[in-house]
Order: sequence, then C-alpha cells, then structure tokens
Amino acid sequence: MSHIILDGRVVREARLPALKEFFGGLAKPPVMTIIQVGDRPDSTAFIRAKSTFAAKVGVTVRHIHLPESITQAELLSVIAENNKASDVHGIIVQLPLPLSLDQETVIEAIDPTKDADGLSAANVKRWLSGHPAALYPATTRGVRELLSHYRIDIFGRKVAIVGRSMLVGKPLAAWALNENATVIVCHSKTPDLAAETKQADIVIVAAGRPGLVSAKHLKSGAVVVDVGINTVQGQKLEEEVGRRLVGDVDFDSASTVASAISPVPGGVGPMTVLALFENLADLIRKAY
Ligand code: NAP
Repeated sequence: MSHIILDGRVVREARLPALKEFFGGLAKPPVMTIIQVGDRPDSTAFIRAKSTFAAKVGVTVRHIHLPESITQAELLSVIAENNKASDVHGIIVQLPLPLSLDQETVIEAIDPTKDADGLSAANVKRWLSGHPAALYPATTRGVRELLSHYRIDIFGRKVAIVGRSMLVGKPLAAWALNENATVIVCHSKTPDLAAETKQADIVIVAAGRPGLVSAKHLKSGAVVVDVGINTVQGQKLEEEVGRRLVGDVDFDSASTVASAISPVPGGVGPMTVLALFENLADLIRKAY
C-alpha cells in the first residue's frame, strides 16, 4: 500500500525556528540542567542529542555527571540546589537510574515547575485527569506533535498502544483517552497481541522488542507509530545517538498495509528531543 512516512526530522526542523525565536527573545538564554548518574553509553548518547539540539535553539545545558556510587541523599541535594537556582528553568534526571537509587523519590524531588520530563506526581495527576495545561512526558508529546503535523486526528478513532511503562505507554494511553480516542493498551501478558492491534486505526508501539509488530498485527490502512529504540548489529546509523538502531515494528512488512508509518531512526526519536524543549518553553511561559 502507498503510505506516508511520518518523518520526525522534517517536523523537528520545521519547528526549530519558532523555538529558537522564543528562547532568543528571553532576557538571558534559559538553562536546562541534565543530571546523569553513571556512564550508560545510551544515556550519554541521548544527552549528547539533547545538548546538540539545545545549542541550536539557544538553550544552555548544564550537564551534571555524577558517579554511580553517589548516594540517594547526595543526589537529592543536587536536585534541591537546581530547584533553588533562579537561572535554571528545567531539570531532567536521565533515566534509568542505577538500581541503588529510588527512581520515584528522585523524580518526586524535582520542582514540578521545572519538571521538563513531566513525570513528577503533580504533572502525572494533570495528564491523568486531562487538565488542559498538562505537561506530557516528551515522548508522548513527540508522538502527539508528529501525528498532528501530518493531520492525523485520533478523536473517536481506535488507538492501540503496545507497552504500559510510566515513561511511555501510560502517558500515551492517558493522552489518547483525553483526546477522545477509544484506547486498547497491550503489554507482555496480552494473550493475543495481533487480535487487539488489528482492531486499531492507529497502533503506537513502545515495547522495546525489535520487530514485534508486523503486517499480521495491522488492519489495512492503519497508522503505525514506532516508539521503540533497539540497538542491533548491521542496521542504519542513528545520527542523533550514534548507535545502530531499529524500532519495535518490522518496517518493510508493516508498510505493505499501513497508510502512514514512522521510521526508526528518524521518526519519534527526533520528536522526543524537540518535545523536551517545547516542554521547557511551556514551563518558561508558565503555561504549566
Ligand atoms: P519498558 O519500561 O521496558 O516497557 C516496555 C513495555 O512493553 C512494558 O509495558 C511491557 O509489558 C511491554 N512489552 C514487552 N514485551 C512485549 C510483548 N512481547 N508484547 C506486548 N508488550 C510487550 O520500556 P519503555 O521505557 O516504555 O520503552 C519502550 C521502548 O521505547 C524502548 O525501545 C525504548 O528504548 C523506547 N523509547 C523511545 C523513546 C523515543 O524517543 N523514541 C523514548 C523512550 C523510550 P509489561 O508491562 O507486561 O512488562
């Protein structure tokens, strides 16, 4: 079937000038603090991608790189300092944290008005309740903006989401419900994944399983959004994170039935970075 490519790089480039103008119009360049604990290569690569984009739109990134041996109390005190700092507008703790640290407590320590990732309880409550000023986590916002750019409306449509993590699947499900979609949420215990996803007009996959979804999981004309980022050998190089990546969707197979499909790399990944800085702009506008 002929299909539209949902190209996140194109959308990100189209949105870049407006963000640059907004940040450039402020009295001083805003500061986004990114806290990294340990040396996971994927975290380092994602932070590099965020920092590169930040430089393009005129945001100063303060990258605080802490050793894996840091205690919870020490990390909380770094967050408290950044909460207090009047020149810091956004704070991200790069996830996942080492298992020795309690991720929930750490996220909760971030001032909700600086929570660019939208994961603190105050923000979660807003996106669960459908508050108009809800700050969605960056991946959810990225998916929303990608679909909206290509004028794909989810109102009244059947949307299947594969994955139910707090970071991706649950905020996606909340957003789709808030937008009046009928939502099917699938996970690793879903007995027959294809039977669920085949009902959907729009299938959003965030499972972390390369090639999980293929043509047999889709109805003809479905819109497919691939959030997955998996490192494999011998594939295309993802410019932004410097690794070899594939998604959760078997692109060649799915594109034989899909009417629109996002690639990996170049689909949701660039949109997530863009959305993080659109969240920062919203925090600064006090739209929160
Ligand atoms: P996660 O915390 O590991 O969650 C994965 C979810 O997928 C879980 O809910 C799991 O079900 C479900 N799942 C796993 N295997 C499944 C299967 N065979 N059938 C159906 N559901 C299955 O991962 P995450 O943080 O949500 O991330 C998901 C993917 O998105 C990863 O590839 C990650 O790298 C990527 N990601 C991309 C971006 C981006 O910007 N593009 C941003 C964040 C994450 P259970 O709950 O039952 O375990």
